[in-house]
This record gives sequence, structure tokens and C-alpha cells, in this order.
Amino acid sequence: MPEDDDRERACDRRAVLKAGGAGATMLGIMGYGPEAVAAAGDADRSARSSSAESVEDSESTLASDSGLDGLLERNRIWSSLLPEGYFEDVQESQAPTAVSMCCSDSRVSQEGMFLAPLEAAYLFKPSNIGNKVTTTVDGERVVDGSFLYALENLGVSPAVVVGHTGCGAITAAYEIATGTDVEAPPGISQELEPLVEIVEEALARDAIDTAAEESAVINQLVEYNVDAQIEFLRESEEVADETELYGFVYDFQRAYSDVAGRTVVVNIDGETDPAALRETVPENYEPFVESLLR
Ligand SMILES: [Zn+2]
Repeated sequence: MPEDDDRERACDRRAVLKAGGAGATMLGIMGYGPEAVAAAGDADRSARSSSAESVEDSESTLASDSGLDGLLERNRIWSSLLPEGYFEDVQESQAPTAVSMCCSDSRVSQEGMFLAPLEAAYLFKPSNIGNKVTTTVDGERVVDGSFLYALENLGVSPAVVVGHTGCGAITAAYEIATGTDVEAPPGISQELEPLVEIVEEALARDAIDTAAEESAVINQLVEYNVDAQIEFLRESEEVADETELYGFVYDFQRAYSDVAGRTVVVNIDGETDPAALRETVPENYEPFVESLLR
């Protein structure tokens, strides 16, 4: 029966989406060369066994890795790796599973850290320098419109704030807060201003061990900032009480653990005590909970 055939095909597509092209897609976005990726894609779709090994020895063939060539080449690979039906359920609308406000830093893969590319419409993903959930309207600080859009119009929960180790925006804010004259165009100064206030608050509260090495000071401030952003969301009347709020620090410097790229849980709905958070996270994820703050 045609209907059954259609249903079967739809099931197949979903199965492919979940399994088949996923590894190859990830390899694609991780910058392996087109030939290696194409080979990995084939291997992935059929055997799903040795795709990792098959690219290991391959030199990247993204020869023109910059400029328009590089962009188009990467997109060509990306679109060729998407499994059939990737956009099928989201042609007319989106219903993201989560919204994250992440720092725009190029070392931080906002989608990659939650495997978002494996599924179209998984993540709503505004970003800015210093992962701020606020903007200023008529002198008043309010929830950032792009972030709020996901909460208000799409009803997304959980809402996630992701800071990261070695954040340049937090470093600049710390320099300003401690008296260094930082020259920046108005657009950037405006982005840094709320972060400077948060850093000043952290220092005034003696929440940071300022005697530590500067990188450790910055990473403490990164975590403090994530907590401050979550606090703002908790106190905002624009955010529904039932919205789940998670604060993470994406750690590529191994400041929290020896796992680079881990999203360390530092805040759940305002709770920041690691012992309490370890009680809250799913079993086996206790090592994801850490804090650099005293
Ligand atoms: Zn940053």
C-alpha cells in the first residue's frame, strides 16, 4: 500500500537521521577534508564502524581554508552530508529543545557542545561576547531579545547560559574594572559595560581569589558571570518561573577537569553549591559538576 510505503520511508528517514549520517556530519563540521569526509560519510552510512580511523591519517584537503573558497567548500560538504529528511519536520516551523546564550568566541562550539547539528531545530542559539542574557532599553536592563524570543514565542525550556574558560570579554572587563584603560569602539564598550559591573561586584564581594594567577582569576570571573546571568533570569518577571535554568562553563583549558570541551555544570536554577548540584544531575554525571569559586 502506498501509504504504508510512505510511512516506511518516513521511518527510514528518521532512522537515518538518528544514526546514519550523524557521524559524518560531525566530521564535516569538525573540519576534516572533503574526501575524507565523503569517505567517512559512505563508511558511516553503511558500516558505521571505522569512520574515525578512515580520516585519522588523511591530511585535510580543505586547501583553501580561508576566504570565500573556504566558506563555500565547507558549506558544500555540510549540505552534502545532511541525511535525507534532515529538515523534513521543520519546514514550516521550529520547536527547539533548548535555548543557549553562549559566548561568541570561536573556540566555543555553541552547537557542537550539545551535538545540536545532528538534529535540525534542536537548539535556539543567540550569542554575544561574554554570554550576556541582558540588553539595555531606555536605560533599563532587560532580558536580551533574541534569548527572550525563544522563551516567549517558542516556549523553550531549558534556558542555558554558557560561559567558557579563557574568555576575552571577561578578561577585558577585568582589565577595565581594575583600572586599565581599554580602548574600544562604542559598540564594543557597550557590550563590555554590563560585564564590568559584574566583575566589579565580584571583586567588591571578595568572591574571587585575586591572588591567583591571572588565568585563574579570569576563569573564576567567568563562572561568577554565568551565575550573575542566571540570577538575572531568575529575578526577571519576563522569564516564567517554570523555565529550567542551567549555567555551564565550557572548559577547553582543563581548568575544571582533565576533559577538554566539557560543559561543567555550575548553576541549576540558582543553586551553585557543588554538593547540592551533584545530587541534582543525572547519575554518572557527578564529574560534570565543579566550581572554581570559593
Ligand atoms: Zn568569551
